[in-house]
Amino acid sequence: MDFEYTAEQKQLRGAVREFAEAEIRPHVMEWDEGQIFPLETVRTLGSLGYMGSIFPEELGGAGLGYVEYSIIIEELSRVDGSVGIIVAAHTSLCSNHIFKMGSDEQRRRYLPKLASGEWIGCWSLTETEAGSDAAGTRTTATLEDDHWVLNGAKTFTTNAHYADICVGMAVTDRSAAQHGISAFIIEKETPGFSAGKKENKLGLRASATGEVIFDHCRLGASQLLGKRGEGFVDSLRILDGGRISIAALAIGMAQGAYDAALRYSKVRKQFGRPISEFQAIQNKLVDMATELDAARLLNYRAATRLDRGERVTKESAMAKLFASEAAVRICNEAVQIHGGYGFIKDYPVEKFYRDVKLCTIGEGTSEIQRLVIARQLLKD
Ligand SMILES: Cc1cc2nc3c(=O)[nH]c(=O)nc-3n(C[C@H](O)[C@H](O)[C@H](O)COP(=O)(O)OP(=O)(O)OC[C@H]3O[C@@H](n4cnc5c(N)ncnc54)[C@H](O)[C@@H]3O)c2cc1C
Repeated sequence: MDFEYTAEQKQLRGAVREFAEAEIRPHVMEWDEGQIFPLETVRTLGSLGYMGSIFPEELGGAGLGYVEYSIIIEELSRVDGSVGIIVAAHTSLCSNHIFKMGSDEQRRRYLPKLASGEWIGCWSLTETEAGSDAAGTRTTATLEDDHWVLNGAKTFTTNAHYADICVGMAVTDRSAAQHGISAFIIEKETPGFSAGKKENKLGLRASATGEVIFDHCRLGASQLLGKRGEGFVDSLRILDGGRISIAALAIGMAQGAYDAALRYSKVRKQFGRPISEFQAIQNKLVDMATELDAARLLNYRAATRLDRGERVTKESAMAKLFASEAAVRICNEAVQIHGGYGFIKDYPVEKFYRDVKLCTIGEGTSEIQRLVIARQLLKD
């Protein structure tokens, strides 16, 4: 057991922090208020190796592990959670599904472009009638003359409107239930594929979330991803890793809110002294820092085990559950420490407070994480 970052991990954290402070921080509120997707920044992140960190170098990736990937997501989200979720959905959902379940040919065709940020990826599982109950997918894929024809619609897909590649799940055999859903790779130009309504969101507003529509979308047989009928089961495995990225997203935003609150508490004076001298404020800072540490340790445990090739269904769900709930509490207290100024958009905590809520919902709500963990506990 080693609780220290390696020299390389420290260097990586410093490099991502420097980038986020210089290239993202100045634009955060403009992007948020205008719901502007930071396309140019995403391309730069690709050129720096941050859009394909967990993939091997021969496929254009950076050859790093999930601890390093978490560090990247944390540091981006410490400044802007929107950038964090864009990278997370692209990397550990879309690209990783292709990496883990794809054929050699699919990996070679898609991963180098995704890892370099030349192409952006999205991953579509959720539908209006199939959220927590994702196996209730209604989108269908039927075989017609050696081609798959997809019909249906997905909702809440991160990056939908900017994606060059979509990994989407569709029913190929209704009678086989969970083993009758398959995954497909859909390229943007495929006729019948389009992005629909873009949601106007509470937070993470610079990330684009919306509908993906399949209207007689005709795909070659080679676009099936993984085994026929195993797309849903494969998705659960992909979510094991994805949840580490949502925990990192939560931790990053909580860190940003904590840093701002700590700083503010030292300069804001009431009753003739800095508010940091009041024990009530100190207690808040103590609880925030302690929960932040606990969340990070849980997440690095899940990440380390995943890097060792272990199954981390329980560990990543625990990390995601704890980190997201703790981050909501931390961002709430960060606003409280700022008093009325925490309610004003001139201070960064207002945005963290809005953005962080997604973490208890996306990639499985807290209630679903508890179901996942309970199943693992009872199985053991
Ligand atoms: C900003 C954003 C980005 C997203 N990005 C993506 C993406 O890229 N790709 C993608 O596929 N999806 C994405 N999602 C969808 C997300 O994963 C779902 O919203 C989430 O899984 C919950 O589904 P739902 O919204 O339909 O809620 P519902 O499933 O309708 O849940 C409503 C409430 O009921 C509770 N509930 C449901 N079932 C149970 C149960 N069995 N026991 C106890 N409580 C239960 C839930 O916990 C929740 O509190 C995104 C969502 C958002 C908001």
